[in-house]
Amino acid sequence: MADLLNVDTALEQILAGIAPLDAETLALHNALGRVLAADIVADVNIPPFPNSSMDGYAVRAADVAQVPTALQLVMDIPAGSAPATPLLAGQAARIMTGAPLPAGADAIIPVENTDTRFVPGEESALPSQVTVLKTSKAGDYVRPVGEDFHAGHRLLAAGRVLRPQDIGVLAALGRALVPVIRQPRIVVLSSGDELLDAHEPLTPGKIHDVNGYTLAASVAQLGAIPLRLPTASDMLEAIRALFHAALAQQPNAIISSAGVSVGSFDLVRTVLAELGQVNFWKINLRPGKPLAFGMLQGVPFFGLPGNPVSALVTFDVLVRPALLKMSGKPVSTPTALAVVAEPLRSDGRRSYLRVTLERQGEKLVARSTGTQSSGALMSMVRADGLLIIPEDIYEVAAGTELRVRLFKSLEEIV
Ligand code: AMP
Ligand code: MG
Repeated sequence: MADLLNVDTALEQILAGIAPLDAETLALHNALGRVLAADIVADVNIPPFPNSSMDGYAVRAADVAQVPTALQLVMDIPAGSAPATPLLAGQAARIMTGAPLPAGADAIIPVENTDTRFVPGEESALPSQVTVLKTSKAGDYVRPVGEDFHAGHRLLAAGRVLRPQDIGVLAALGRALVPVIRQPRIVVLSSGDELLDAHEPLTPGKIHDVNGYTLAASVAQLGAIPLRLPTASDMLEAIRALFHAALAQQPNAIISSAGVSVGSFDLVRTVLAELGQVNFWKINLRPGKPLAFGMLQGVPFFGLPGNPVSALVTFDVLVRPALLKMSGKPVSTPTALAVVAEPLRSDGRRSYLRVTLERQGEKLVARSTGTQSSGALMSMVRADGLLIIPEDIYEVAAGTELRVRLFKSLEEIV
């Protein structure tokens, strides 16, 4: 297999040519799942004022050292109001959760620790006094300034994929606009005389274009934007027109499938040579040995194999990391170790076997999904992941532990 390019070397070469995209400004409500493009440093304290964590009465703790004690009720502080006068000795203020403490007050007595009884029907009227039954010390039920965070603190680091709680912090700071990395715009192309679109009825000799859909879906799953173009036939002019149409979209990358194996190879190669610098690689990987990668007028180009499983596996192994890097996201793949249930054969290439996963005690057990034909898409549909058989291995004994690229989270595996 010395003539074949190692998968890791290929990925390194691909990633070397890819840089994160620049930033755009988004409305905060559209920022979920996007990658923060700048550090977020607090410019205010939150909460900005000391406030009550309970419905009750704001008091001076010194006044309630001995209980029961009656205090004169001098004001009502609903949430959203700002008390204008300070609280003097012997006084209390009725206060709602989240409302600011008046100057002079330093503790809250929860309403259940008082015996203020309202005249039925007059609950909104302020009684003239409140009897405190249980003491509070200074600071009790008070949320101090900056309890959540202080001005000057870095709250969110650039590169973070925004979650609902992160959006909340930005909202608390009053950042209605947020800088995020642009979503990569990725053209997905299919070509082949045999291809019909999903809405067209099958005719003799034809098949539906699968890769156009699976690759666009794979792009979208990463948070990038797939741009689809009509399928081209296997004619030089049609393929040339297709690639010109692709470049006219000013995409951040172009992904095509088929036409990189011997056969239709020359047509695609002719067009690619006109448009840029493309390497045709034979990669030490199964399924999907042939792969083209290069730059077309400055746009990264991936030419994936035509067989639907090969297209998806090479996308996962070689294109996904590139799109993650472009998106400013961590280039990582969820994997786990699994025990092989049955003996397996390989051909010495690094093989990505479609497997189901099952939990047996502490271990994950991997089983082939059945036919591993690179055209049999159901092998991917049934799969919980791709079992990686390393290079130069021809036989794997049952019970061997190998790494699996996961299609679902570990918690979903039963
Ligand atoms: P090629 O690389 O053009 O020789 O294609 C290899 C295999 O993949 C052939 O069986 C093609 O029919 C099939 N194929 C190519 N493109 C697609 C596609 N977009 N959807 C489904 N199958 C395809
Ligand atoms: Mg073809």
